[in-house]
Amino acid sequence: MRTLPLGTEPTVVARPMLDVEKTLVGLDRAEIGDRLRDIGIPEKQIKMRTTQVWHWIYHQGVKSFDEMLNVSKDIRQKLADNFTIGRPEIIEALVSKDGTRKWLMKFPDGNEVETVFIPDEQRDRGTLCVSSQVGCTLTCKFCHTGTQRLVRNLTPAEIVMQFMVARDHLGEWPTPSEGRVLSSVVMMGMGEPLYNFDNVKKALKIIMDEQGISLSRRRITLSTSGVVPEMKRCGEEIGVNLAVSLHAVNNDVRNEIMPINKKYPLEELLAACRDYPGAKMSRKITFEYIMLKDINDRDEDARNLVKLLNKYGIYAKVNLIPFNPWPGSDYQRSDDDRVRKFSEYVFDAGISAPIRTPRGEDILAACGQLKSESEKQRKSEILRLEKEAMAATD
Ligand code: SAH
Ligand code: SF4
Repeated sequence: MRTLPLGTEPTVVARPMLDVEKTLVGLDRAEIGDRLRDIGIPEKQIKMRTTQVWHWIYHQGVKSFDEMLNVSKDIRQKLADNFTIGRPEIIEALVSKDGTRKWLMKFPDGNEVETVFIPDEQRDRGTLCVSSQVGCTLTCKFCHTGTQRLVRNLTPAEIVMQFMVARDHLGEWPTPSEGRVLSSVVMMGMGEPLYNFDNVKKALKIIMDEQGISLSRRRITLSTSGVVPEMKRCGEEIGVNLAVSLHAVNNDVRNEIMPINKKYPLEELLAACRDYPGAKMSRKITFEYIMLKDINDRDEDARNLVKLLNKYGIYAKVNLIPFNPWPGSDYQRSDDDRVRKFSEYVFDAGISAPIRTPRGEDILAACGQLKSESEKQRKSEILRLEKEAMAATD
């Protein structure tokens, strides 16, 4: 593991390793029950044992069955012989001078993803930015992850594990009832979460489960580039806050910088936002708007942004994200003055439009800078996944 000589050194946490075939992490209760049945736990104990195991994994955060103290010794042994609850390998744990942390995790098949923890200014709470895929099939021109071909979807275990690893390093087990440092989650890491809907849903349900990690759905935000057909399901079946990567206010510019717009143009996207289940005054949709110099940052763009949001009657707030450069990127960040003027215009129109301060730039952890080295060797596999993702949303 490599660490940067910046700030505090991250804690190195000894852990038994993740074994994808044998892990109990990422399974729902019924599946854990089935696994316990498979190893001969008597039927009348299944419910109770499942509750115990769930509590130890997700409330206590233990990494081995030995620590499950209210489970009898012989059952603990049986569990340990057949299953694991270990963590993935941490290849790199970096700490930025602003306190942002980034972990590069490696799964047993060699694929890697990044997860970022962004503490707030006082450092008494913070947000975990979680990845949903290794790479991304979409190719937004401003995004580093988009230059990495999709290797594969992450499993529910791999998504939940990102949260658990962060908790390990922050020393936040057992789940505190209040005053949490890891206080919210954004699905804004690598990948398009709505192209991995089922696994993301399953993982978030585990993270929200009240007998375990118990993070409220109000503290979870899923960001999409605009996979229109899955947006309604996201509201209905997962019920988390929605963020939409808008980034342009007309189809010409959006087509150019976000190719997904050719499939789901602005009109369809905004109608889906208007209809997002649960969206209301107190639960607004966040529109992310990256500030790219001379591309989408003129006064006219700010005017059109306000017009569009009003036209569709969307309860909206806008997050202005100054472009974060990465090696080989084509764009430039808008000047600070320009970003401020843009923000003021939108604020003056009655829509909140704060400027997101870039965090963790020195460790390439800021929005759009994530990229792991996992590249797909087998092109046929990428094509299959791309086809599947597109077909699923036709
Ligand atoms: N695929 C989803 C989730 C990723 S969220 C989505 O696109 O919404 C990551 C956020 O960072 C998105 O809003 C994305 O558009 C933005 N982003 C990507 N590249 C960026 C960059 N270079 N600078 C700033 N923000 C960027
Ligand atoms: Fe994928 Fe989102 Fe990056 Fe676009 S911005 S390439 S959808 S991760």
